[in-house]
Amino acid sequence: MELVVCCDANTCTCCTCGINVRGDNNYYNEKESMTLDQYQIEAMKLRLPTADREYALLNLAAEAGEVVGKAAKHRRDGGDVDEYNTFIKKELGDVMWQVAAVAKDHGFTLSEVCQHNLDKLWGRKDKGTLQGSGDLR
Ligand SMILES: [Mg+2]
Repeated sequence: MELVVCCDANTCTCCTCGINVRGDNNYYNEKESMTLDQYQIEAMKLRLPTADREYALLNLAAEAGEVVGKAAKHRRDGGDVDEYNTFIKKELGDVMWQVAAVAKDHGFTLSEVCQHNLDKLWGRKDKGTLQGSGDLR
C-alpha cells in the first residue's frame, strides 16, 4: 500500500482526510486519535533532503539508544520520575519518526508494519510459540 494524500496539501481547506494541510503543527483534531498513517505522512513532511535511507536506518538505532541510555542512567542514578517519563516520551517520538522513515523507504505504511507485526504475534500465540526464539516460529 502506498501513502495516499487525498488532497493537495497546499490548497485543501476541506479537509475530510484528517491530515494537516495548513503547514502548522495543528495537524490533527485533538478530540480524535491520530492514525499511524496520518503520523507517517505528517512526519515525512518534515524530512530533510539529506535524511536519506541510510541516515534513517542509522538514526533509528541512535534514537533507540537514547531511550535505552536514559533508562539505564535512571536505573543507576534514580531521579525525578516525571522528568524521566517526559524524556522517554520525547525519545520514543524520535524513534517513531525514524521508524516512519524506514518504513516509507521500504514502501510500507506504518499501519501495514503494525498489522504485520500483530499478525505474526497472534500467529505465534495460536501456535503456542510466543515464548521462545527464532524468527520463523
Ligand atoms: Mg532523540
